[in-house]
Amino acid sequence: MKALYFDGTLSLRETERPQRASGEALLAVMLAGICGTDRQILKGYSGFRGIPGHEFVGEVVECDDAGWIGKRVVGEINVTCQSCQWCRRGLRRHCQHRTVIGIINRPGAFAEFVALPSANLHEVPREVPNEAAVFTEPLAAACEILEQIPIPPGTRVAVLGDGRLGLLVAQVLQQVQAQVTVIGRHDDKLDLAKVWGMTVAHAGKQPIPAKSFTVVVEATGSPQGLDQALRIVEPRGTVVMKSTFHELARFDTAKLVVDEVTLLGSRCGSFPAALGLLRSKQVKVQELVSKTCPLEAGLEAFQYLEQTACLKVLLAPGA
Ligand SMILES: [Zn+2]
Ligand SMILES: [Zn+2]
Repeated sequence: MKALYFDGTLSLRETERPQRASGEALLAVMLAGICGTDRQILKGYSGFRGIPGHEFVGEVVECDDAGWIGKRVVGEINVTCQSCQWCRRGLRRHCQHRTVIGIINRPGAFAEFVALPSANLHEVPREVPNEAAVFTEPLAAACEILEQIPIPPGTRVAVLGDGRLGLLVAQVLQQVQAQVTVIGRHDDKLDLAKVWGMTVAHAGKQPIPAKSFTVVVEATGSPQGLDQALRIVEPRGTVVMKSTFHELARFDTAKLVVDEVTLLGSRCGSFPAALGLLRSKQVKVQELVSKTCPLEAGLEAFQYLEQTACLKVLLAPGA
């Protein structure tokens, strides 16, 4: 099969189809999304070597359970042992022996085929097209915030970063009637948030008052984002960290102590919640697609994303 492979540099390769272990399904990838984590992986994040890609929608082509064959699915990215202390406590996404497709020790979805335990699969509702279903994973990550902290209606929330994840987080928080301000540096992306009824602020052009938000979600994808988040969060407020990057972040820890700010890490979330939002069209995702490329143009797709700072670029292995 054809796949994008990273071994210090990214290249298009002809490789073996992934071996399907017992309990696993083999999926033909229909669409896969490139996310900030993939770009960080190319910079060295997680030390990953192999086929990247963890946001995808596919069709089941092989599975022990024949009921799955032919189904259109999305898949949870963490593959867990089911027996360690974290798995037994119901914190499977924190399994100490986990592999993660395209991120930790497991081939990912920038390929014609990907293997995943059938327990990780969720069928995509008929009303949700592939171009929306491919957002299930990042949208689930956005939904995770609501599982971690209460956000009562009217809460003043800033989403720092107007990229793919920031715009998903902002929409999820708008669903619970938070008062959302998106802070970014790209007029076109901020315009989209404005159309959706959010307050927007251009970080380079207008001053953002200090200590003005109860919750700040850091989704800039950059190590400098945390320091900015700590500046604009109010005393006793919460900074939710969504960015994963390869570099170390520097920030003023005294600010954290003096203002008694809670710093909250936030990663993967519930797929059923995300599929529910996509099915009811409460969250707009197809507007975020900037370009769809065949898998063979994968290298150009990464370059395009880097050069244009556009929103979502999708790869279509079947095209
Ligand atoms: Zn991702
Ligand atoms: Zn485990």
